[in-house]
Amino acid sequence: MDWDVHHGNGTQAIVQDTPDIHFVSMHQWPWYPGTGRMDDKGPLGSIWNVPMPASLPRERYVTALLSAVDEAVQGFTPDLVMISAGFDSLAGDPLGGFTLEMDDVEYLTREMVSRAEQWCGGRVVSALEGGYAPERLGDACVRHMRALL
Ligand SMILES: [Zn+2]
Repeated sequence: MDWDVHHGNGTQAIVQDTPDIHFVSMHQWPWYPGTGRMDDKGPLGSIWNVPMPASLPRERYVTALLSAVDEAVQGFTPDLVMISAGFDSLAGDPLGGFTLEMDDVEYLTREMVSRAEQWCGGRVVSALEGGYAPERLGDACVRHMRALL
C-alpha cells in the first residue's frame, strides 16, 4: 500500500501482472504523474487506485485509504504487507496538497500493523518514498518507525 501523494506508477507497473500481489495507491488527482485513475484496476483487477483531490479534511484521506485496503483483501489474505511510506502527503509539503498530520502517520501505521498481525503474523516492510519538507519528513519517519515498533 502506498500513501505517497503521487501515484505509485512504478510499483503498479511492476506488480500489476502478478495476481497474488494486491496494490493500493492513494494519490492526489489530478497531479503528477497523471496515472492512477480510479477505473484503472490493472489487467488482472489486482490494483486499487484511490485518486483524491487536494485540500480535503485529513480524515477523508485516512478513511479512503483504509477502505481501499479493506476492499483489496476481500477473499485475499496477504502474506506480507509492504508500505510505500511517502511523506509528501503531509500538510505543508511543497510537492503535494494533501493535509495529513503526524497523528495520521501514526494512526495509519498502527492500523496497518494491526491488520498485518491478523493476516500474516505482523510482517510489515516499509520503504521511505517522497517527502520534501525536511523537518516534517524527519518527524514523520520517527512517528512511523515508533508505530511500527
Ligand atoms: Zn511522491
